[in-house]
Amino acid sequence: MRQYRDSFETILERLHLSIRKNGLKNSKQREYILKVLYENGGHLSPEEIFTIARKNHKGASLSSIYRILAFLEKEGFVLSIEVDSSGRKYEIAGGLHHDHIICTECGEIIEFYNEALEQLQNEIVKSYEAVLVSHDMRLFVSCKQCLQKRTS
Ligand SMILES: [Zn+2]
Ligand SMILES: [Zn+2]
Repeated sequence: MRQYRDSFETILERLHLSIRKNGLKNSKQREYILKVLYENGGHLSPEEIFTIARKNHKGASLSSIYRILAFLEKEGFVLSIEVDSSGRKYEIAGGLHHDHIICTECGEIIEFYNEALEQLQNEIVKSYEAVLVSHDMRLFVSCKQCLQKRTS
């Protein structure tokens, strides 16, 4: 399992604060979706979360999952990456910064971190006398497994 900076309990406390701040009522589904992402440790689409949630919450609906994910992202609990034109995948925010390699054939997502690349991005931005606010580096590939399948 992935290592997080914060325990799930700490994240839940923050969630309760932001729910109060937004004048919402606590909902088990919101907590549950956060827990699914936390325990999975990877990147899940709303549909994948729905498949997992349906097993435990009979009342779960895809539209409520979309709504909850939008809330969780706005409040900084999750991050999303656009994997292809069909949609986004979500992961828990607040881990170490990383970028993504995405297989356009099987959807596999590989996380990477490259210090030289991070520095280069800062230098590029600096040369424009700007300050980097955020970046979204996605490399689209045919992954090793997909390449192997092709030749066998
Ligand atoms: Zn692949
Ligand atoms: Zn990631």
